[in-house]
Amino acid sequence: MIYFDNAATTEALPSALRKFAEVSATSFGNPSSNHAFGHRARRILDGARVSILGAMGLKKSHELVFTSGATESNNLALKGVAFHYAARGKRIITSAIEHPSVLAPLMDLRDHFGYEVVILPVNGEGVVTPEELAKAMDGSTILVSLMAVNNEIGSIFDTAGLSAVVHKFRKAFFHVDATQAICKTAFPYGDCDLISYSGHKFGGLKGTGALVYRQSIILQPQNEGGGQEHGYRAGTSDVAGDAAMALAQVEGLGELRQREAIVRPLNEELRRYFAHKPGVLLNSPVSASPYLLNISLTKKKASVVVEALSNRDIYVSSVSACSSKRDPFSYVVDEETGDRARAQNSIRISFSPLNTMDEVKTFEKVFDEILQEVKDR
Ligand code: PMP
Repeated sequence: MIYFDNAATTEALPSALRKFAEVSATSFGNPSSNHAFGHRARRILDGARVSILGAMGLKKSHELVFTSGATESNNLALKGVAFHYAARGKRIITSAIEHPSVLAPLMDLRDHFGYEVVILPVNGEGVVTPEELAKAMDGSTILVSLMAVNNEIGSIFDTAGLSAVVHKFRKAFFHVDATQAICKTAFPYGDCDLISYSGHKFGGLKGTGALVYRQSIILQPQNEGGGQEHGYRAGTSDVAGDAAMALAQVEGLGELRQREAIVRPLNEELRRYFAHKPGVLLNSPVSASPYLLNISLTKKKASVVVEALSNRDIYVSSVSACSSKRDPFSYVVDEETGDRARAQNSIRISFSPLNTMDEVKTFEKVFDEILQEVKDR
């Protein structure tokens, strides 16, 4: 198998699986139980929390809520801030290429709660620049939500520059969906007021994630009940999953450079290969994350090529896994290129440090064969 769909999800790291099994077997108590066995689980949970904040350099300034993943973190961040700070203003700014788990709650705030949601277009590099954001900001803006790295084309937003613009306005918070950046692309975590991500994108387990937020921020809980996770996320904690994610994240943050040194040459090789291929257009800007490479096909149907690759045990995606069930149209590629045909026919290839150059070479050979076999559309 050649697995090039790591932006959809990654294989769990053996160390994370071991941690999950160990905690599940030896410390399965409820961290809210008031006895020694519960306290033991509580120590593991809080240890996981502190180790993540420590690895991100945020121990003094930020707090962390464990969630089921970035979708939940994004919902909690956006609605939690919007509802709690509604008296300050009802204006929120985002970009047109955010993940659906950012855009959908914002549309709900707009359509059902009277918020004004400003959706900024991206430029040809697939980003909103600090200059463009500055033009859209005003004193009634309470929240800006912009991703660190786009999940389809890999464009990298200038988090430092954008945060500086947001923080010129006293009332505004800066939320970053960092799902495709954590353990891949460093950005100034401390400049962000809220950071969302999922554990399964860097070798943790599915159903784990976190929302990191500045200590001074108050959120309106979106999930109420037993008051777990600082009262922001009720429900019995997944101690084993959270501990496994913390381990994978601390390991990943410590190996950012080494991992990038593995992935970047794979991306560059494939980029060179596609650049010379008739009928292939590159959608990922040169400055994109090395973990992602997005192309469009001009002569063949992308979904047919993706299926043909799958039949050869090679896995890529035609659009991001989150939207692929609706239709094979990439609103991200459409926004970036303004070309609907290109957006209907894109393929995303996404790497992990477990991939090899041999796999890339095999991919190229098989891709050539498939281009011969598949008829023109
Ligand atoms: N944001 C981005 C940028 C993503 O890539 C994803 C996962 N595709 C999510 C949010 C949602 O993550 P999850 O499905 O793990 O909740």
